[in-house]
Amino acid sequence: MRKPVIAGNWKMYKLVADSVAMALNLRPLVANANHCEVIIAPVFTALKTVADRLEGSNIKIAGQDCSVETQHGAHTGEVAADMLRDAGASHVIVGHSERRQFYFETDTFVNRKTQAALAANLTPIVCVGETLAQREAGHPESVVRGQLEGGLRGLTASDLDRIIVAYEPIWAIGTGLTATPEQAQEMHAFIRRVFAERASNGQAGALRILYGGSVKPDNIAGLMKQPDVDGALVGGASLEAETFAQLVNYNR
Ligand code: PEP
Repeated sequence: MRKPVIAGNWKMYKLVADSVAMALNLRPLVANANHCEVIIAPVFTALKTVADRLEGSNIKIAGQDCSVETQHGAHTGEVAADMLRDAGASHVIVGHSERRQFYFETDTFVNRKTQAALAANLTPIVCVGETLAQREAGHPESVVRGQLEGGLRGLTASDLDRIIVAYEPIWAIGTGLTATPEQAQEMHAFIRRVFAERASNGQAGALRILYGGSVKPDNIAGLMKQPDVDGALVGGASLEAETFAQLVNYNR
């Protein structure tokens, strides 16, 4: 049985006080959500304060990114994976499409970040997904295959047990366009098959694959009914406690 994951990516939103207020509002609203893991990813500057204020709750903390570097050193502006762990994170998002698009992150970078996260004992949430042009050109699967193979290169069998994959079609992120449940299911099943080529069938069966792209309270139930959709990575709808709690409590 794969435990679903509902993760909120707060992107570059919220000052520390707003982040804490949101986290404290969310806490009681999801306190009974034993059916899934609940994760929020605040900005770096708020991460430790939010983590401290959520101690003892069922809400886990993710970084939105981490450095490829594992040795502390002269890397201005970077945050190492073990620093995220030290600040209270258990997870980290790597390869988000905004990092790939706007900060030119390649699969090699995503791979190094995934390895850095694992070395720091963080669970990487490895994001993959095609652009609209790539989908319209009829080869979204080959794009996603390339991102998966590149992102997971060199990972050991035990590493592969410790990752989460998020399928986030770029055309659906922040656009209000959502993949239909059938489109999501088709790509998630494909991702599981590609993963099985690298790992055992058992490991592929245990892999959690999240869908991301304009997930909202009115579309989450249909997505979560799909057999290979194991949760959601949510941007816009994660920024407000009541709305995100509705997503977490999609089964009610
Ligand atoms: C995201 O940022 O990962 C995301 C899926 O955003 P949104 O839910 O706003 O589309």
